[in-house]
Amino acid sequence: MARIQQLPPSVVTKIAAGEVIERPASVVKELLENAVDAGATRVDVEVEQGGLEMIRVVDNGCGIPADDLPLVFASHATSKLSNADDLFRIGTLGFRGEAMASIGGVAQVLLQSRPGGAPHGAEVTCHGGDLSPAKAWNGAAGTRIQVRHLFFNTPVRRKFLRTPGTEMGHLCETFTRLALSHPSIHWTLRHNGKGVYEVPASAGLAERVGLFFGHEVRDQLYEVEERRGAVWLRGFIADPACERGNGRTQYLFVNGRWVRDRSLGHALQEGYRGLLMTGRYAVAFLFLDLPPDQVDVNVHPTKAEVRFRDGQALYHLVFNAVRERLRAENLTPRLQVPTAPPMPAPTQSSGAGTLWARPPEMSAEATRLPDPPAAESSVLSPPSSAPDVPPAPSPPAEAPPVRAEDLPPLGTFKAIQLYDSYLVLETPEGMLVIDQHALHERILYEHLKRRLRDGPPETQRLLIPEPVELSADQAARALENREALAEMGLGVEDFGGGTVLLTSYPTILGRRSPREIFKAVVDYLMAKDRLPTREVLLNDLLSLMACHSAVRAGDRLTPEQMAALLGQRDVADNTHHCPHGRPTALLFSRQELEKQFRRV
Ligand code: ADP
Ligand code: MG
Repeated sequence: MARIQQLPPSVVTKIAAGEVIERPASVVKELLENAVDAGATRVDVEVEQGGLEMIRVVDNGCGIPADDLPLVFASHATSKLSNADDLFRIGTLGFRGEAMASIGGVAQVLLQSRPGGAPHGAEVTCHGGDLSPAKAWNGAAGTRIQVRHLFFNTPVRRKFLRTPGTEMGHLCETFTRLALSHPSIHWTLRHNGKGVYEVPASAGLAERVGLFFGHEVRDQLYEVEERRGAVWLRGFIADPACERGNGRTQYLFVNGRWVRDRSLGHALQEGYRGLLMTGRYAVAFLFLDLPPDQVDVNVHPTKAEVRFRDGQALYHLVFNAVRERLRAENLTPRLQVPTAPPMPAPTQSSGAGTLWARPPEMSAEATRLPDPPAAESSVLSPPSSAPDVPPAPSPPAEAPPVRAEDLPPLGTFKAIQLYDSYLVLETPEGMLVIDQHALHERILYEHLKRRLRDGPPETQRLLIPEPVELSADQAARALENREALAEMGLGVEDFGGGTVLLTSYPTILGRRSPREIFKAVVDYLMAKDRLPTREVLLNDLLSLMACHSAVRAGDRLTPEQMAALLGQRDVADNTHHCPHGRPTALLFSRQELEKQFRRV
């Protein structure tokens, strides 16, 4: 092996550049942050070929004294920090003093600057780390930086660059983040001579959101603001209707800096739980301001990740703020679901009242629909009942099933089933259309959730454990999560060779095959490349069980089953959406009907 030697500065810079300068967008990010730190009120960005050819940023900030110009490209040279203590109370976007040195090392840079009061300015060039002598420059006060031919001297890195279109996409994203987080600055962006964005200083945050994301988003924003001690959370969250297929439109700024934070992103999504379908993401623009000593931004070279001193408290702050705001916003008018469940007239047969009233202690039975008469049993649930192991498990102790005689006559509800999937109901407010699966799923979900709070759910032990054959990695995944599954009432044991023994299942599953739901659980676990937290896991498993145990679309319901389902509608306090965020009911108001038929 060769002897140890200290690397020459030119190599050190290239290595450092590798960390912060990845593509044109990273150059733009550094230049824009410097302009912000310089106190600019106007920043103009012009690029050619997605920034691959040329990037120019002109600001009207404080400028750089002529004598300091060469230092701009020196490593670890900064005007923003002077001692180590400053590191723990950072108030500027930059502080590492590395960006300009990195850019100068891998591109051809022209830097021109004039401080406000100075009679004239100066310029230097830095081509691949070679600094030119400074010469006079007579431009407007502020700084003008032009970067050409990024990675001209590092062909390997140049190969990783994409098409101008793709690079421009990244660059626009960077521009958007800066423009959103610094609303008092006038920003412009031009590409190949054409204007892309013009964001006047007068445009507030909501207006900027409209500029970058369109009117639909801007018109559906809800403002949030919450203070907890020295911490201030503010910004906008969008109506669930603005949902997206990914989390990229969830913007979080910490002390004016765009950051990525898995935990707070999760808090946001949790705040929308029940209002979004699984796999859909909320749109939000949140600003968190906290004393600089409560957040460490020096974790990541590009500062895209930060470390909070009290992440837990921030999680709750974001979650609660989002949750409360969405709750305050009456999301029902759009769905037009009456807040009170339809109640039968008080003149019902005495038995009716007990069914309609919320059961004092919900038992699993209360949420399960009564079995249909024998003749129809094949319609509602597969006759294959629980596990197909020879000695049938002894039935769990059950409350007496709801008897048809105890039910109010169906005529009271005037409910009919359409397409074996929807229940249509007359209510004083109008015609209510209920998705039978979504409603039942929601009821079961709420029930399971409540039960889980009080302890493990009622389970049914299998006298003879049921073997389920899986692939080796599926088996491993299932066994890895054995504890969480046990909390849900699903008992699993290792049998070896990819076979897992199912030893118990939650009673709530009723006649559904435990093997079937277990397989669905395994599929869910396999689909996650990273294991969710225990809380998320349990919640997802709850949804999954609720989904699998609920009546399905296509199940013909008997009048008794319909009545029982409708009777439980008030059990769930969030019945207008199923756990996946689909609505469970839609109301066509009587008024609307009359209007449509020109009766008014
Ligand atoms: P940092 O921003 O971390 O200090 P940079 O390498 O980005 O490091 O910049 C080095 C120094 O150059 C900054 O500290 C600042 O003094 C100066 N500088 C860079 N860009 C500008 C600008 N647009 N206006 C004024 N000063 C600038
Ligand atoms: Mg900087």
